[in-house]
Amino acid sequence: MADMKLHVLSTGVMETDLTWLLLKGGRTIRDRHHKDDPVVWGKCPTHAVLIEHPEGRILWDTGVPRDWEQRWAPTGFHDFFPVSEPTDGPGYLDSSLAELELTPDDIDVLILSHLHFDHAANAKTFQNGRTRIIANSAEIEGARAITGYSAGAHIVSDYAGLDLEAVSGDTEIVPGVSVIETPGHTWGTMSLQVDLPQEGTKIFTSDAVYLADSYGPPAVGAAIVWDNLRWLESVEKLRRIADRTGAELVFGHDADQAEGLRYAPDGHYL
Ligand SMILES: [Zn+2]
Repeated sequence: MADMKLHVLSTGVMETDLTWLLLKGGRTIRDRHHKDDPVVWGKCPTHAVLIEHPEGRILWDTGVPRDWEQRWAPTGFHDFFPVSEPTDGPGYLDSSLAELELTPDDIDVLILSHLHFDHAANAKTFQNGRTRIIANSAEIEGARAITGYSAGAHIVSDYAGLDLEAVSGDTEIVPGVSVIETPGHTWGTMSLQVDLPQEGTKIFTSDAVYLADSYGPPAVGAAIVWDNLRWLESVEKLRRIADRTGAELVFGHDADQAEGLRYAPDGHYL
């Protein structure tokens, strides 16, 4: 196995009505034990993953932008997913990289799980002539067909004009680091599989699976899903890979799980 070090980076914590993330008892679709519960407003953290690999530095996703309030206002999402962090403080991608004494210019490969506003928002800061920026071919095609300011959670200005390198299928980026095609949330949402030499396989699901409660079993769907059947097939695909490899899954927006992650700069995975 390749020698590598993995850092989880804080890239902004949104807050939201958790109905967006999980249509299930105790959240929105009530069972009889929860019929009188109020709507649950909670944390919706984002993260990026930095892998220091013998073949270069690989970054997975970019989190939310500091100018989220202005950038998201035309979509209305600024009121549904406000970011908790002060916009001039730590907790965003640039400050998390800086804590590791890195800038976007130090990144060899940026992989975007998909092009939604809370994952691809900072991609343009990597437009430096050296960082390869990778996304799924179906995601690029779908996102580039959008006209106007935005459609759903895709904001055109986040990715317009970027030199995106298309991948499709399950693809090894460097030895021990692969993307897994997990469409459904969007046309070309991908997950990231990292086979760590000491701690074993980790799969970062991004929005292919928002929460541990989405994963189940049974898998439970959510709002903002482009194709529910493909989404379900992708969850079961991840489950098969996890069963085979013994992988630990790190979900896209799980606040409870996030509390137990080892974040940079203090913690890392080997
Ligand atoms: Zn998304």
